[in-house]
Amino acid sequence: MRAQWMRAQRTLARLTLAAVAAMLLALISPAVAQAPEPQAPEPQARSFRGYIESLRPLALARGVSNATFDRALANVAYDVEVARLSRRQPEYGRPVGDYLNAMVAASRIGGGQKRLAAHRGLLDDIEKTFGVPREVIVAIWGIETSFGANQGGKRVIPSLATLAFHHYKGDFARDELLTALRILQDGHIPPERMIGSWAGAMGQPQFIPSSFMRWAVDFDGDGRRDLWTSVPDVLASIGNYLRAHGWQRDLPWGFEVIVPEQFDPRKSRGSFREWVTLGFTRADGGNLPTSNVRDEAILFFPSGARGPAFLVTKNFDVIKTYNISDVYALAVLHLADRLKGRPPFAGRWPAGDVQLSREDRMRIQAALAERGFSPNNRQGMIDFDLRDDIRKMQVQFGMTPDGHPTPEFLARLVR
Ligand code: CA
Repeated sequence: MRAQWMRAQRTLARLTLAAVAAMLLALISPAVAQAPEPQAPEPQARSFRGYIESLRPLALARGVSNATFDRALANVAYDVEVARLSRRQPEYGRPVGDYLNAMVAASRIGGGQKRLAAHRGLLDDIEKTFGVPREVIVAIWGIETSFGANQGGKRVIPSLATLAFHHYKGDFARDELLTALRILQDGHIPPERMIGSWAGAMGQPQFIPSSFMRWAVDFDGDGRRDLWTSVPDVLASIGNYLRAHGWQRDLPWGFEVIVPEQFDPRKSRGSFREWVTLGFTRADGGNLPTSNVRDEAILFFPSGARGPAFLVTKNFDVIKTYNISDVYALAVLHLADRLKGRPPFAGRWPAGDVQLSREDRMRIQAALAERGFSPNNRQGMIDFDLRDDIRKMQVQFGMTPDGHPTPEFLARLVR
């Protein structure tokens, strides 16, 4: 899924490719690979071809025929742009509010409403089968590819072949390439129509090949799992993915809330009932659920105590399995709420709130580990356990304990 790819992209940007960056510049152009010159190819071109050919036994062992291998890879061209994109530093520092406004733009809300109406019967079936609200499924579809309009425009096989050649995240790209060949072998899509992002996230829901194998669904019953052109397959696959990752039917994902004046923000977890007792209310004036929701709700300040506050449940974390970022999950779920007719956020997003770079988030994790905490990862992925650790240190530093990592917090932590 895109989440893994984002992680892979960030890791690789610093590690493997940095070492071969100089070599990349000299690599063959696609035209050379498609139409070999009479003279001997450059050494790099030969090594790319040689690398591809070296995958054949692995592909055959996975049930890919020689014919499928050749059809997909005989003329495969090294993609300079993919190599370049894989080295790009991801954009950081965009304020949360700006990101959310862009993701949940009026045009996307309108587009989602149109799709909800157009696919009403289909969404009835999908909701019944997978137990995931239609608005959440349509929101992911809208945010990933603008409802299928922007699938990435890259052919998946050359992209993955290029990344595999560079040992993108170890064996990861290679394994995804071999899995993509298996998808071709099974006849779900011809290679020329297997379109996706430069990083191999495929089709309208942006599934990487291994996610396709595990969670893509043939919902229109034509025998093929077609995530490129079949809307029933696309929407059911998103529903199946979320169900498989633990989406709980009838559990709200969470709510924007008003924090009572007399509140000790060191508390971060409790049942909705507890939060109500403490004086929390929903920002849109509705009632927080106080019965039938046993699950813990976590108090979450996406841009710190100055900005909007949320109580979120495990279903919030399920969206993060699609893409690890907290603000991605918030964008999806807020868009879903808007599609249900709920109002925009009530709170104001602080204008100067920059999101920390991955490097800085990793520095926070390392520094917390040095102080005896046990971060769940050291790759810069922020989860709610880490936010609790941050709260504890904020108390020590005399800062507002909102669990929100800022440049000021980092400066205090590593001083
Ligand atoms: Ca199908």
